Amino acid sequence: MPSMRQVYLDYAATTPVDPRVLEEMLAFFAEQYGNASSVHAAGRTAREALDVAREPVAALIGAMPDEIVFTSGGTEADNFALQGCMAASGGLREHLVTTAIEHAAVMETARHVEGRGKRVTFVPVDEHGYVAVEAVEPALGDDTALVSVMLANNEVGTVQPVPEIAAICHERGAVVHTDAVQALGQIPVNVDALGVDMLSMSAHKLYGPKGVGALYIRRGTRMHAVTFGGEQERRRRAGTENVPGIVGFGKACELARGLLPTEPQRVAALRDRLVAGIRDTIADAIYCGHPHERLPNNTHFCFPGANGEALAIRLDGKGIYAATGSACSSASLEPSHVLAAMGIPLELAYNSVRFTLGRGTTEEDIEYTLAELPLAVQQTRAAARVEL
Ligand code: PLP
Repeated sequence: MPSMRQVYLDYAATTPVDPRVLEEMLAFFAEQYGNASSVHAAGRTAREALDVAREPVAALIGAMPDEIVFTSGGTEADNFALQGCMAASGGLREHLVTTAIEHAAVMETARHVEGRGKRVTFVPVDEHGYVAVEAVEPALGDDTALVSVMLANNEVGTVQPVPEIAAICHERGAVVHTDAVQALGQIPVNVDALGVDMLSMSAHKLYGPKGVGALYIRRGTRMHAVTFGGEQERRRRAGTENVPGIVGFGKACELARGLLPTEPQRVAALRDRLVAGIRDTIADAIYCGHPHERLPNNTHFCFPGANGEALAIRLDGKGIYAATGSACSSASLEPSHVLAAMGIPLELAYNSVRFTLGRGTTEEDIEYTLAELPLAVQQTRAAARVEL
């Protein structure tokens, strides 16, 4: 019996490690296992590997290598950015501004900061999940220490006008952070063009390993460490460095940079085919997110009357891996805060599914998905009616 086709359309959740990345990493587990802080040759080899890896990471975002602080991933980078900056500002600047659609890594850190007595403002978004510059402006005060606006949203893929937002924030003397975890490798990301002071990255969204990332910190930005211990990362982030992970992250950044001129276009063409096909076959499907200011690999639909989770499970049965657009799985019955902030009604938010494409996605994958999806939606709707 031929095995079922598998179509992975959840690249925003994570990506497979590129074989070339894995190849670079392997030697650093059992052969070159030194601790980068050790003075002997094994330690020096590890230290050199870290220095070498820092270059392509910095180059991908147009930064200097010494502005890169390696972390355990995007979540830690976001925690570090918000907590480190708020701790360093103090005094007359006690206000944090962020948006209503941030990833939990920023959102929950902002709530934590708020719980510690700082003022926090969550800027609203429009129906496309777009943060208008005009919406940020009134939130800024003379006491604003930091403004954190994600570059691209992980659920609906909306790309934010970070350069314009950064410009007005700097006029008010605030530090600007962006979470670029989803944007890296998808769109050009340059810290000077964006005008940001800090930027979060994660390797596993970029065909690198899980559990490693970085925070870019522009030279001269006032920051406090939030992890205490050894003197690693020039005392900005304590803890023995994940040498194989960092080596893999470096290689992943090098590859992503090389593919930037071609791969996003290829993926966008497939994405456009998927969107057109869904619109043709499922007349009432609602395309969520921005019509053009969005990542090339993201599609997000609401299929009225079809529970997103039930639909994702039905698709899984056909070998198609998609994400539910709302966090109604596990114990939580909360719909996605992103869809809620966009004004999408609760019932509809439960009907959403995200398909995110990547390097492994082919035309055949898209045609297979388009062939299976209409029936899956129909059956999901019918099942819901029976349950009622
Ligand atoms: N920020 C965004 C926008 C994300 O999509 C993610 C991961 O889903 C993170 C932060 C967290 O990154 P990590 O999984 O490396 O902790």
